[in-house]
Amino acid sequence: MKKNKLKIIYIYLFAVIILVGIFLIVKKIEAPAKEEVKSNIIQEIPKPEIKIDENIKQESYMIKDYSLVVPKDSKGNKKVVLLTIDDGPSPRTKEIITILKKHNVKAIFFINGSNDKDHAGIIADTAKEGYIIGNHTWSHLDLKKEKDLTKIDKEITKNSELIKQITGSVPKFFRPPYGDITPYVKKFVKDNGMIFMNWSDAAKDWEKSTKDKNVFVGNVLKNLSPGAIILIHEHPWSLANLDSMLSSLEEKGYKFVDPKDIVE
Ligand SMILES: [Zn+2]
Repeated sequence: MKKNKLKIIYIYLFAVIILVGIFLIVKKIEAPAKEEVKSNIIQEIPKPEIKIDENIKQESYMIKDYSLVVPKDSKGNKKVVLLTIDDGPSPRTKEIITILKKHNVKAIFFINGSNDKDHAGIIADTAKEGYIIGNHTWSHLDLKKEKDLTKIDKEITKNSELIKQITGSVPKFFRPPYGDITPYVKKFVKDNGMIFMNWSDAAKDWEKSTKDKNVFVGNVLKNLSPGAIILIHEHPWSLANLDSMLSSLEEKGYKFVDPKDIVE
C-alpha cells in the first residue's frame, strides 16, 4: 500500500516536470513571435509629420522692391532672371512665343486691352501656351499724370476684366506704363490682389539704336545681375534680337523663372 502511494507520487511529480518542461519550451518558441508583433506595431506608429510650408519650396520666388525676383528659400537658385514683354498683343506675339518655346523660357506678357480688338485671339493663345498675362492698363495711360482717380481705376479694372474674360482668371501681376509708381496706384493694385512689378534690366528697345543686335543684347548684359527682371517690348527689332538675347543669358548660366512659381 505504501509502495503504491509512493508510485503515484512519483508519477504525479514526473507529469508535473513534463508539463513544466512543455510550458517552458512553448514559451520560448512564442517569445520571438511576440517580439515580432511588437516590432510590427512600432512600425505602424505614424512617423512624426514633417510640415512642409507650401510657400517655402525651392522653386518658389517672390518679388523684391518691385524689380527683382528672389527665391523664397534662401537656399534656392539665385542665378535667375524673369522675362517680361510689354505692350502686346501685337502681330509679333506668336513669333515671340515660338522663340521662347525654342529656349523653353516662360515669361509674363503685360498687355494693353485696347490692342486686343486688332489682334483678336492672341491673348487667349498666349495663355493657352502657358504664358502669364499681366495687366499693363487698358490703353497705356500715364497714371502719374492722370488726376482723375476714377479714370485710373477704370484703366486697371477694365483690363483685368478683359484678361479674366479671356483666360478665366484675374491677372496676378500689374505693371504701370512707364514704370511710374504712385501711392494711390500701389494701394489700388494691392487691394485688387495683384503683385506690383517693374523691372531692373531692360533692352531699352524704345531706343532705335537697339535695332542693332549688339546694342540690344549689350543693354541687357550691362545691367544683368541675379534676380533681374528684364523688360522688352514687342517691336519688330525686339523679335529679331530675342533669340540672341536668350542665348547670351543661357551662356552666362542664368535660368528663367516661370512666373507661375512667383508666390508674392
Ligand atoms: Zn508699356
